[in-house]
Amino acid sequence: MKSSPEGAKERRHVAYTVPKLKDFSPAALDKAAERLLAALEKENAEVKTESDWKAFRDRWLARKNGILTQVNDLWLKAAPKDAKREVGQQVNRLKKTVEDTVASAEKQSAAPVERKTRKGQPVVSSPAASVLDITLPGTRRPLGAEHPVIKTVNEILAVFRNLGYSVQEGPEIETDYYNFESLNFPPNHPARDMQDTFFIANQESKPLRERLLLRTHTSPVQIRTMEKMKPPIRIVIPGKVHRNDPPDASHSPMFHQIEGLAVDTNITFGDLKGTLDHAMKALFGSSVKTSFRPSFFPFTEPSAEMMVSCFICGGSGRRGSDPCRPCKQTGWIEILGCGMVDPNVFEFVKDNGYDSRKVSGFAFGMGPDRIALLKYGVDDLQLFFQNDIRFLRQFA
Ligand SMILES: [Zn+2]
Repeated sequence: MKSSPEGAKERRHVAYTVPKLKDFSPAALDKAAERLLAALEKENAEVKTESDWKAFRDRWLARKNGILTQVNDLWLKAAPKDAKREVGQQVNRLKKTVEDTVASAEKQSAAPVERKTRKGQPVVSSPAASVLDITLPGTRRPLGAEHPVIKTVNEILAVFRNLGYSVQEGPEIETDYYNFESLNFPPNHPARDMQDTFFIANQESKPLRERLLLRTHTSPVQIRTMEKMKPPIRIVIPGKVHRNDPPDASHSPMFHQIEGLAVDTNITFGDLKGTLDHAMKALFGSSVKTSFRPSFFPFTEPSAEMMVSCFICGGSGRRGSDPCRPCKQTGWIEILGCGMVDPNVFEFVKDNGYDSRKVSGFAFGMGPDRIALLKYGVDDLQLFFQNDIRFLRQFA
């Protein structure tokens, strides 16, 4: 029988041998089995390397003269007829235990883990350790960078955070109620045509207000926030929105919005103008001017479009001898929609403290994609969403 030199030395005095049995009583059998299993445990604990394991396996399982074979010959075959059944069961149990122990000892001897030698020195027994070439170049992990749109979103949010606004978010899949009805777009109202969107299929059996769609604006989060927070509130809401617009240089079926809402007692249009004028100066430089002109949104009354003086040509409409394209030579860029919250909108949340006789507020919404286009001088919106690394790398 082969064995590692160390194992042989250790076992020399105590090596287990299968005894011949004279007494085949259950008690004597149990005792013999106990001694065999103790020897198995002890030898198993000494298996450290693959060659240890091979020796261990051969000693216990070899067909010719392995310990199990001896047990079969010396115990089972030698048993008197009336004890055969009892001995057979005992031998089967031992056989299973020995086989399982040998199998798990193999995993232990091959496991690529640090194991302790007798002196406590760690030894790596992994086969991979021997083929590790530390002169090979490492794996290069390129550093990522903020996407220009997300960068713009974060800059805008930072301006409003500094004014005491908190950031709120909401689901991109909305119900008709939050996306339209509670924002003063009644069913069948023509204002809904301005925001054609993607509806989730097969919902005809649901009442209209529960049907799901991809939100067309971040405004549903205004209602969702007013449902859970009492006035006063000051919030900004960034997020993705969807409309049924074919993609071109200035449209995309998916785009981003940032929306803001302030509600308190005695909020006036003057507060709206002052807040947004400050925000535009913080974003585009202290020399930009702002201008408002009347507009229409279902959820604000009165409503306005806000323009900033062109921060590319300085408001002149020209760049040297060329016309300024971003402002179409007007010197002004349309940047956001805004207005005073329509009392009809407060009606949907009046039970949470939004009594339109006591509170008032303003709301605004802007498109960070378009602002990023202007800021970085990009002329095609699609470039932002195509994930071409050569394009994105320019903003890192
Ligand atoms: Zn311009």
